[in-house]
Amino acid sequence: MTDQREIWVFSEKPSLLPELVNGAGDLATLTGANVVALVVGSQDQAQQTSTLGVQRVFWLGETPDQALFEDCVVSIAELAIKHNPYALLIASTTRGRAVAGRLAARLDVSVLTDVKEINLESGSLQIRHMIFGGGAVRIEKPSVEPVIMTVTPGTFTPTQADSTHQVEIVSITREEPAWQMTVQERKTRAAAMVNLAAAKKVVCPGRGVARQEDLALIEELARELGAEIGCTRPLAEGLDWLPRERYIGISGANIKPDLYLGVGVSGQVQHTVGMSESRVVVAINKDKEAPLFAQADYGIVGDLYTIVPALIAAIKARK
Ligand SMILES: Cc1cc2nc3c(=O)[nH]c(=O)nc-3n(C[C@H](O)[C@H](O)[C@H](O)COP(=O)(O)OP(=O)(O)OC[C@H]3O[C@@H](n4cnc5c(N)ncnc54)[C@H](O)[C@@H]3O)c2cc1C
Repeated sequence: MTDQREIWVFSEKPSLLPELVNGAGDLATLTGANVVALVVGSQDQAQQTSTLGVQRVFWLGETPDQALFEDCVVSIAELAIKHNPYALLIASTTRGRAVAGRLAARLDVSVLTDVKEINLESGSLQIRHMIFGGGAVRIEKPSVEPVIMTVTPGTFTPTQADSTHQVEIVSITREEPAWQMTVQERKTRAAAMVNLAAAKKVVCPGRGVARQEDLALIEELARELGAEIGCTRPLAEGLDWLPRERYIGISGANIKPDLYLGVGVSGQVQHTVGMSESRVVVAINKDKEAPLFAQADYGIVGDLYTIVPALIAAIKARK
């Protein structure tokens, strides 16, 4: 690898780029490579990205109204063939994963999903990543470049922007795909108002909460504690009681709060990989065999409908 090698970062959501830049930055320091950001979005986004401490920004323009976001794969693949980046870190959002897979297929490489750690061992990359939906960790030494990785939000600490330091923005002409898929309709979803990765305290309801209206109890507890509300996947996907941005786990958010309080959460591995770095874990569950107790610093065996009101009353009394 020469000094000119590049590590690219790409996120459908601009808010996740600072994390990727930091993760790529560590690797860049080890290898002497440059960190380059790819931006599909407005010129303003490209401008903001240029303040994140990257060495260059490739701006691929905005997605045309009738095009799919994933169509940007054609332009990114062309760019990759031309510039031969060493590695690509892609934020693991739904569209990010679609881009990673399609890009890998075009470049005839594979994708390392849910990357947790990137190291350099004797000059070659050593990557720790989740497999089997979070059931196991695998360490791989990729031998083919570019090394495409998806990174779960919250894996790396976000880098800080510095508006006094801006770098070159290279405008790339968008390549249109040969396929003829067009977007017929877009429906807006309520914007995510939460950044769980940055939360210091998280109250996490699970399927132990029997009815949607009972979430009011969880909200009150979170309010009293000054905590954000996360949840397990079934509450966000399936029951649709809470927005998808709030679920924690292998396919959701990665959190590292000072306090994680699981309420009626069983503690399946797909969930716990997203909260295992919490400093203090508290579990409330009526089943004393619930796996979350094995990770908990404090466990309360009991019915959440008794325990949570008692906790709220105790917190209020202390205030
Ligand atoms: C590929 C794949 C990816 C996945 N990704 C994720 C992910 O990212 N995040 C995620 O969360 N899940 C994920 N899942 C789902 C995961 O496997 C579990 O099914 C899910 O986490 C379980 O959610 P839960 O703990 O809320 O529900 P359950 O497992 O049903 O547990 C409910 C718990 O509530 C307790 N309980 C019930 N009533 C009460 C009460 N009144 N008081 C106290 N306790 C009570 C029960 O004892 C039980 O332990 C994934 C699964 C797959 C296959």
